[in-house]
Order: sequence, then C-alpha cells, then structure tokens
Amino acid sequence: TGESITERIFRGLVGDPDRVVLIDGPSGREMTAGALEAGIRRLAGGLKARGIGKGDVVAILAPNCPEYAVVFHGVAFAGATVTTINPTYTAPEVSHQLTDSGARLLVTVPAFLETARAAFAGEIVVIGEAEGATPLTALMGEPLAEQVPIDAATDVVVLPYSSGTTGLPKGVRLSHRNLVANVDQCLAVIGCNPGEWSVGFLPFFHIYGQTVLMNLHLAAGAGVVTMPRFDLEQFLTLAAKYRTPTLYSAPPVAVALAKHPMVDQFDLSCVERFFSGAAPLGGDVGDAVAGRIGCLSVQGYGMTEMSPVSHATPRGQARKGSVGVTLPSTECRIVVDGRDAGPGEAGELWVRGPQVMLGYHNRPEATAETLVDGWLRTGDLAEVDAEGWVYIRDRLKELIKVKGFQVAPAEVEAVLLTCPMVRDAAVRGVPDDEAGEVPVAFVVPTEGAEEAAIRAHLAGQLAHYKLPKRITFIEAIPKSASGKILRRMLPV
Ligand code: ATP
Ligand code: MG
Repeated sequence: TGESITERIFRGLVGDPDRVVLIDGPSGREMTAGALEAGIRRLAGGLKARGIGKGDVVAILAPNCPEYAVVFHGVAFAGATVTTINPTYTAPEVSHQLTDSGARLLVTVPAFLETARAAFAGEIVVIGEAEGATPLTALMGEPLAEQVPIDAATDVVVLPYSSGTTGLPKGVRLSHRNLVANVDQCLAVIGCNPGEWSVGFLPFFHIYGQTVLMNLHLAAGAGVVTMPRFDLEQFLTLAAKYRTPTLYSAPPVAVALAKHPMVDQFDLSCVERFFSGAAPLGGDVGDAVAGRIGCLSVQGYGMTEMSPVSHATPRGQARKGSVGVTLPSTECRIVVDGRDAGPGEAGELWVRGPQVMLGYHNRPEATAETLVDGWLRTGDLAEVDAEGWVYIRDRLKELIKVKGFQVAPAEVEAVLLTCPMVRDAAVRGVPDDEAGEVPVAFVVPTEGAEEAAIRAHLAGQLAHYKLPKRITFIEAIPKSASGKILRRMLPV
C-alpha cells in the first residue's frame, strides 16, 4: 500500500515518450522518458523472474550516467532494496558495504570491474559490456506492468550510507514513503519546472544527488545532464549549453566558482541561482559566487537520515548564510540541554517529518541514540531567526572548545576563504596545555601568499580566541566525494 518512489517518478514521465529526460554529459547520449520507463519495467521483470524481490538487496557501484536511474528504479519496481556505493571507494570499502548490506547482486560499469571483482564473490552485472560479467541487457526480462506490492511506509527501498565524515559510514534505512515525501517537499520549496535541465555532477550514490537531482527532476518532468565526475570546465560548458536555471552544488565547487578565472568565459545568463548543500558555506563565499555569475546564492540542508532534505531556500528567495526554511509537513526544534532554545539561542537541531529514516541498518544502539520519539537528532548546531530562517553553525562533534568558548571550524574557514591569498582552507582543533583545545588552520595558498598577511586578514574579523594558533600551508584540503572537508584527516 502507498505509492512507490518509482510510481512517483512515472507520474513525471507521462506524456511524450520521446521527450529526453537524461543525457550523458560527456558523450551527449540521450535517454527518453519512454526508454527509461521501458528499461525500468524490463529490469524489474528480469529481477522478478530471478526471484529477486522484497527483502533482497542489489548494489550499484557506478558513476552518474542515465542507466543509474534504470538500475535504481528497476530494483525499486521489483519491490527490492538498492544500496548505492561510492565509486571512489577501494575494494575493501566496497566489500564492507556489500557485506554489511547483504547484497545479492552487484551492478557496476566496466571501469570498476576490477574493484568489483576484488570486493565481491557473487554475480557482477555491468552497464555496457565486459568479459566475464553479465551485461545489464541480459538481466532484462518481460516488462513488469505493475509495481511489485510494497508497504510504502515500512519497506526499505534504498540503503544509502552516510558519508563517514565523523566515523564509519552508517547504512540508512529509507522507505518509499521517505523518498516520495522528500521529493514532493523539495518540489514545493526548491521547485523544478517541467522541461527544466540541471547538470548532475553531485554523485547519485549519495542521497543529495539521488533525491534532489535524479528523483526530483524525473518526478517533476524535468531532466538531468549527468557527469561521471566533477570538472569545472565541463560543468560550466554543460550548464551554458543546456541553459540550466539552477547550479546544484556543494561548497568545494563554490570555492572554485568564487575564485577561478575560467568562470568569466562562460555565458551563464541562464543561471537563476547557485544552490549549495552538504556542508557549511560561508555567506561571503556564496555572495562572491552570486556576484560573478549574476544569480542568487542559496542553500539547502539535510543528511542521509532525512532522505536528505529538511531545510531549503524557497525558489526566488535568498538569505545570506541561511540554509532556508523548514520544509512542509516537517517540524524542527533547537534543543539546549534537553529544553527548547530561546529566541536567537543556538542548540542542536532536531527534525521530525515523513522524510526521517526508519533507522540505521544493523545498528540498534545508534538508532536509539539518534531517533527520540520520532525526532531525529541531527548532531548539528543551529539557530533560527524570527522569520523562521535556519542557520547551521557546524557539527557539534567538531566544535573546538577553547577555554570556555566554542569555536565552529566552519566560521574560521569562511573568513579564511575571503582572503585573496587563500585558495582553500580547513580548520580543526588540537589539544593545548593552556586552553584545552585551540584552532589550527590548513591553507592552500595562492602564489606568493604570506602567513603574516593572512593573519592580518583574520585579525580584523575574528575574536582573539578564534584565531588559529598555527597556519600550515598544504597542497590540497582532504574532502569526501560528497563535498565535505574531512577534518579528521588533517594532521594534528
Ligand atoms: P557521517 O554521518 O557518516 O559522519 P555525514 O554526516 O557527513 O557523515 P551526510 O549524511 O552525507 O553524512 O551529511 C550530513 C551532514 O552534512 C549534516 O549533518 C551536516 O553536518 C552537513 N550539512 C549538510 N548540508 C549542510 C549545509 N547546508 N550547511 C552546513 N552543513 C550541512
Ligand atoms: Mg552524519
């Protein structure tokens, strides 16, 4: 009972079967609505014929491509569960997710076959062709006319893993209802018009790209131009070519857009807004992007555990530094020591709504700690203003405790990034005899950058206790595939 996520996207595909809905960016290869729907029905038919259905897990290890949607929804339409794996993972990491999720089948692309083989003893299916692997086409069967019956509220359709920024990635149990709800909530606030295109470099394996690009666009009757990996020049070329109104993105790309001279060579007059999510974005960096492109800079906020979005900026609006407003049918609280925060007071953000996960996979203790009476404790420090706009400061776990004060690394990073001598930056806490903990900074400098000048830039803008005790020049900031700074990978 209840609508499945695949039935939901089918509602966006109806009408003209010849309308193109997915394009492989690098090659220009197109997939129409009719071909996508037929592929999904045939894959679901083939899976069903093999006895794959409710309770079975199929894994996909692939970069973004049009077939990603065929595999994802083919599995969902067959009533089974798909687990989406980070294609930058090494074989042991892939193997861990396959084992933890209990995957029966692994779908991949020829380029990842070696990793797939090293990680998995079961049957491997490839999108395309490769020796010794089953081609995806061989899995196609008789088209399935109807969704294999599911309980939308309780059946797990996707088992994505959290990014592993703060520890080991956790499998997150999301139901059909979770995904359908979040697609419709995002549609109501972020908006997506039929026929509109977006460029999708945000990986589909991660819940942000999966919901906000793949599923939202298909459900809206819009389209995605897929990119297998990020490349600034290709991203801007495709955005200009397909006249995309929204640049869906994450902070690392904001930093590139704010600072790279290449940006000025493109006609981006089609771009209405730069949309950032997945990690903190400093208001000034957002403004710099908006200024260069001539668009709004906006944010959304979410986590894998919320399918992922709980807050977003309504289309046409923008508020500096805010992640937006609470989505429809979603409640939020700011909690300090177990009580609700007063006006303007910062505390832990708690969220309740139909997009909140069923629980973690195989981790009852983590589930019990995180879900309290239907409320999801996000672990993020937030504030709400009088008009309901929400501001995320940083993760509670990553706050640096300097004497009696708390310093959010994201705030110091944001100020560092406004310095012309800083190409990229990250901040973490290190133990200190006197202060307990102190912030230290890692900077990717521009040519000729000087520490003293960077310090002078900070001194005017940050209270004394927030100033980094050390500034170390490094070549690159460690970041995850989903766009987060991996602060635990920075040297202590
Ligand atoms: P793990 O839970 O495995 O440590 P993770 O929390 O990075 O990894 P995700 O679910 O991908 O895994 O990310 C959710 C987190 O991303 C949020 O809890 C928040 O800290 C951060 N985040 C997402 N959007 C924003 C945003 N707009 N501003 C600030 N932080 C954000
Ligand atoms: Mg998390």
